[in-house]
Amino acid sequence: MTEEATQKLFEITQRIARAAKITGRESDEVTLIAISKTCTATEIAPLIAAGQRIFGENRVQEAQDKWPALMEANPDIRLHLVGQLQSNKADDAVAIAHAIHAVDRLSLVTALARAMDRLGKRPDCFIQVNLADEPQKGGCAVADLRALLGEAMAANLPVAGLMCVPPVDLEPAPWFALLAKLARDHGLPGLSMGMSGDFETAIKIGATHIRVGTALFGERV
Ligand SMILES: *Cc1c(COP(=O)(O)O)cnc(C)c1O
Repeated sequence: MTEEATQKLFEITQRIARAAKITGRESDEVTLIAISKTCTATEIAPLIAAGQRIFGENRVQEAQDKWPALMEANPDIRLHLVGQLQSNKADDAVAIAHAIHAVDRLSLVTALARAMDRLGKRPDCFIQVNLADEPQKGGCAVADLRALLGEAMAANLPVAGLMCVPPVDLEPAPWFALLAKLARDHGLPGLSMGMSGDFETAIKIGATHIRVGTALFGERV
């Protein structure tokens, strides 16, 4: 099982390197987050054995169920939360995560800032932007980004960059380019964008964090 995971990880790493090279970037500018949502600890173990250390989950409860034991065995693991977050889960999120990718409204900014002060722990935050104004998705509207960033700065949140999940049925590149422009405009270095189907495109447009699930773990059932 480790062999298969090693092979998959090698392939993805190669694809990351090629996409980076084409655009004159170094592959170490791109952080691969292995999205392990719905996978069991047993399914995750081979990827850890293969050397992957950065993982992502979309639900706090699921992260709490799976990761404390895995992180105790592998203290250098870094866990990112990438899914929509309820403000009442802010303490749990801050307690378990090293980065939070779906900060998208003032109530959450406030809850996270309080949780960080309480727990004395400051995970990197990415502000999620709902670029296409999709009602079913999280993320702040482009028009509200400046105000939300101001509020995040005022609350002393460690804002690392911006995050997006583009519309599924459209070409992703223009959305990635828009997110990259917004990050530049606001002087933010981090760009969390690109999933299994489009991470190479995202890297060519400047992604610093790609969130890859299916390509590493197979189709989720
Ligand atoms: C599930 C998920 C991913 C990974 O998607 P794949 O297509 O399986 O690579 C990335 N980002 C977020 C926010 C997700 O929920």
